[in-house]
Amino acid sequence: MVFSSSSLWGWSKPTSRDPADCFQPELTYHLRMMADLSSIGKWENEIKTEVRRALDIADTAYRIMRDNANDAKVERTAKCLLGQNDFQNKFDKVKGGFSREPSAHSGPQDAQWLMERSNVDVEIYCDGSRISKSKTAKGRIIGRDPAQGNRVYSEEEVKDYKICDDSNIPKSLRIRAFTVSSDLIDEKARKEAIRRGETITLNSYTTETAYANTMQICRKSIEFAVNDDWPIIDQRRIKKMMKKRKIAELKEKGTTPIDEITTLATTILHELTHTNQAGKSFDVKTENSKVAYGWKRCGSVGNPENADTIAFLALALKVWSLGNFYVKDDGEIASR
Ligand SMILES: [Zn+2]
Repeated sequence: MVFSSSSLWGWSKPTSRDPADCFQPELTYHLRMMADLSSIGKWENEIKTEVRRALDIADTAYRIMRDNANDAKVERTAKCLLGQNDFQNKFDKVKGGFSREPSAHSGPQDAQWLMERSNVDVEIYCDGSRISKSKTAKGRIIGRDPAQGNRVYSEEEVKDYKICDDSNIPKSLRIRAFTVSSDLIDEKARKEAIRRGETITLNSYTTETAYANTMQICRKSIEFAVNDDWPIIDQRRIKKMMKKRKIAELKEKGTTPIDEITTLATTILHELTHTNQAGKSFDVKTENSKVAYGWKRCGSVGNPENADTIAFLALALKVWSLGNFYVKDDGEIASR
């Protein structure tokens, strides 16, 4: 088993009521690679770099939202994703989520990490081998996660870990990554609340635990990054997507240039927005009950609590920050 050292990062809570809480110390991430996936384990440093890139994209977004909020192109891109309605509130909410301050902390090794970790940290896993499986009296398979005090997962949830580890899974079933908040959900209370007609969110009737959030990066996502030689969001990557032939080709495939420049770092940023410390975003559904992933669906929901909306706004602002570009409403990238 290979353990990395961890670094400490601050990440604000956008839902915080007291502005002073906005710079809550430390979102620590701890990357754990398992020896039985040695082909993935060798990419440890690259994946750590992708996490830093994700945080860097968030930093860039925060800086632009703070300093360039009145720029016409910035406003247009943000409005396209968040909608015109109640724009300023939504904009401020997302901006709060991106603010963070690094904290000076020497990297603790495993034993120390276990003592120090809290529910505002995140552990990043590249496989699900830690999940132990057993059968209930009724013959259902359940999983237990030692990373969260042997938290019990249902058969369906255990399946997600299996799908995540399987690089031969068909495209339609693929998961890029997922994050489990360490909060415990009171399913019974939720069901009763729904029966009473209460409007509830994914965060209703949950209680905090002391464990870290866990992020699972799926095998296929790592393979894509490897095959693409760990791409970064730079001028070269953007210019490739601005060619007329490329745009037409993407249109035919039903995707857009901004969707196609995403990297593992932007996937990690999406996942980080799900963590307790970064505001527990949701994967919101569109009117047609599809998960609001991708530029167009994000634009259709206009919800600052949707994980991919936050990640795409950060990505679009990263594109803007490179000097000559901006993202148009249709997801194409143009010169400015
Ligand atoms: Zn998500």
